[in-house]
Amino acid sequence: MAGPRHVTIAGAGIGGLTAALCLARSGFKVTVLERATALEEVGAGIQLSPNASRILIGLGLAEPLAALVVAPAGMDVRAGTSGAVLAAATLGPEAARRWGAPWWVVHRADLLAVLAAAAARDPAVTLETGTAVEAVAPAEGGFDLQLAGGGSRRVAALVGADGIRSAVRRGLGDAAPPTFRQRTAYRATVPMAAVPAALQGDRLGLWLGPDAHLVHYPLRGGALCNVVAIVRDEAPIEGWRAPGDPAVIAGRLSRWAAAPRQLVAAAEGWQCWSLADRPTWFGPGEGAATLLGDAAHAMLPFVAQGGAMAIEDAAVLASCVAAAPDDLAGAFRAYEGERAARVARVQSLARRNGAIYHLKGPAAFARDTAIRLLGGRGLMAQQDWIYAHRI
Ligand SMILES: Cc1cc2nc3c(=O)[nH]c(=O)nc-3n(C[C@H](O)[C@H](O)[C@H](O)COP(=O)(O)OP(=O)(O)OC[C@H]3O[C@@H](n4cnc5c(N)ncnc54)[C@H](O)[C@@H]3O)c2cc1C
Repeated sequence: MAGPRHVTIAGAGIGGLTAALCLARSGFKVTVLERATALEEVGAGIQLSPNASRILIGLGLAEPLAALVVAPAGMDVRAGTSGAVLAAATLGPEAARRWGAPWWVVHRADLLAVLAAAAARDPAVTLETGTAVEAVAPAEGGFDLQLAGGGSRRVAALVGADGIRSAVRRGLGDAAPPTFRQRTAYRATVPMAAVPAALQGDRLGLWLGPDAHLVHYPLRGGALCNVVAIVRDEAPIEGWRAPGDPAVIAGRLSRWAAAPRQLVAAAEGWQCWSLADRPTWFGPGEGAATLLGDAAHAMLPFVAQGGAMAIEDAAVLASCVAAAPDDLAGAFRAYEGERAARVARVQSLARRNGAIYHLKGPAAFARDTAIRLLGGRGLMAQQDWIYAHRI
């Protein structure tokens, strides 16, 4: 069994890898067990708000990320059907000034590759791919992990960063499945040259419509445009990362303005996900075991914070461990206590935004009027408590 200054993490996603890097900086050896045989991310982008970029920069990743991220100049919120701009916010250098770190968008595969390369360079981190944790049971001095294929392993300290269907969460006593939230996300990337001229460039777009909304932003130095359409659906889609039917998306946006319809028509290779969340789990855990990221608090993507919260979790976990390196159970309880309220607040905002984004009729008119009155500055000020957060 690994010694006391050793942590085992299940899952090498954004959360697990960031946690490995943060814990290594706190003087711990880390083993990351990843189910997939090769690290893989969805072919889509992710917004990294300043609360997350600050932590990645603190890990020394600004330089490898520099050529891969885009700092959008601004964000336009528009009415899907009329195409009218409801509010325009300034990001770019203004975001970095306001929140003390840049607002980035990046291809998920690029982010994961940078995290994985940093982990590979760190002698304190070992990554074992093709190793799925199937079950977890308390054992003397730690936990017994049952691995797919029949093996087992006893570990002293365990962090479940194994995503929304976390096996570690099950092992810690919560076997309830995620709750489907009547939304399907369709994702694709489009070469920027194929994007309607009105939507090209370095701004992020958020379009709000009845029972649907659309987000787009540039990736890879502006060569690609990331497109996400989220629509209401009564039943979940079978499978994970199922192919999305372009005719279905076109149909759902058929009454929208020309530019978003053209953008959606230009996209190929749609993939879709049923959106679900789970109640925030922050213990109390048992002994030196805890959860982070989607395993602890899978949330709807309506504040673009699931990944950012996983990155924050990683930094807080490592700072609690650094403060009590010889009492990991105590450090993990301190981490759970520190994260619970903030994450639950973000998670409930995500649910609320999900309802507001998809309003129709008079309620949509009232929403649009409120957004116009707030303006870009007002909208951004509402996010201060999320983006200005420091660990
Ligand atoms: C449409 C959409 C848009 C989004 N946009 C944003 C955004 O703009 N900004 C943002 O911050 N967030 C966003 N999110 C949320 C974000 O993608 C997730 O919150 C984030 O990826 C969670 O990271 P994670 O490391 O916790 O989990 P995951 O990314 O799910 O990683 C879990 C890892 O664990 C591995 N694993 C699973 N089970 C096991 C096991 N039993 N044993 C070992 N390994 C295992 C998996 O293979 C995977 O590598 C979005 C989500 C969606 C659906």
